[in-house]
Amino acid sequence: MNIKIPFFNYQSLFKQQEKIFIEIFSDIGRRGAYILQKDLSDFELNIEKYTGVKHAIGVANATDAMQLLLKAGGIVSDDEVIFCSHTMIATASAIKFTGATPIPVEAGFDHLIDPQSIKKAITSRTKAIIPTQLNGRIANMCEILDIAKEYGLQIYEDSAQALGAKYKGKSAGSFGLGGCISFYPAKIIGCFGDGGMVLTNDESIYRKIKLLRDHGRSADGNVSVWGFNSRLDNLQAAILNFFLKSFDKTIKRRRDIADLYHQDLKDIDELNLPPATNSDQDHFDTYQNYEIETNKRDELKKYLADKGVGTLIQWGGKAVHEFRDLGFNQSLPITEKIMRNSLMLPLNMSITDEEIKYVCKSIRNFFNE
Ligand SMILES: *Cc1c(COP(=O)(O)O)cnc(C)c1O
Repeated sequence: MNIKIPFFNYQSLFKQQEKIFIEIFSDIGRRGAYILQKDLSDFELNIEKYTGVKHAIGVANATDAMQLLLKAGGIVSDDEVIFCSHTMIATASAIKFTGATPIPVEAGFDHLIDPQSIKKAITSRTKAIIPTQLNGRIANMCEILDIAKEYGLQIYEDSAQALGAKYKGKSAGSFGLGGCISFYPAKIIGCFGDGGMVLTNDESIYRKIKLLRDHGRSADGNVSVWGFNSRLDNLQAAILNFFLKSFDKTIKRRRDIADLYHQDLKDIDELNLPPATNSDQDHFDTYQNYEIETNKRDELKKYLADKGVGTLIQWGGKAVHEFRDLGFNQSLPITEKIMRNSLMLPLNMSITDEEIKYVCKSIRNFFNE
């Protein structure tokens, strides 16, 4: 037996449609269209149409997108910004580099920010909340919007993992001042390198970020603010435009895979599964990841590896506040337990139904032994 199911197949991202990509590379090269060209503005327009968010601005990566958003929204030193500790370090570093203090709070049962935990962390210095729309699922934004309103706080979404996800019919990135999207290769739409985007319905944020991403320059060449160089490459935008054409199919396939996992694993008592595709009407999840929980996580990971199944522990198994060298001293027991018990199963566009059945069978065998 020589079964190998990788967690994510980076080669196949290119190989599955190699000819088309080579045509795209040639086309861009022949046109010499590298920076801030039509493919980028087309892609921005297409994302605006797809998400229903007014403005999409291509930037170098999602971490930059979040930092530019916080800058444009006026976050400065002395401010505190609340975020969920079950997130990538990037959420916190974007806060840190505005000079503000990142304040980590708990995740709830669905691994997303816990609204009650937000309330407890609010002080007179709190300026904003950043829910991470994790694993292709949007947090309970009604409750979070209520809290923001009550305390006069801004909302920014770390929606790096949530392109296409919806809550009560509204897209990730549309709930507060703006959201970031990542096009890292393993994300739900990934390019061949780094790429990111800001989504915003706010005119003033939009105008500021257009300047900030390109050295603070406006179209007439005048420089009115200190800016950055953080532009989404036109070549990456062309590739992303191509992937966007089949995005509905991609989301459908990902939800089908989640259904297969759910059907096959739901009877195992010792496993906690992500919410099922149709478990409630408010959420439309896109399953960027399929993150299961068990207190035998490390044994299960090893067992699956022996069976040829690749899995991944998100963020290396540490919540942001557990990086003590960065100055955090909080204790967040619920999040820490999630981090000790969580494991992501392979969910990608190259895995087959037979392979998913094999993964499930292996998991059942593990718990039966
Ligand atoms: C991937 C990711 C990021 C960072 O995205 P980059 O494009 O690599 O900067 C930030 N937050 C979350 C939740 C992510 O998953």
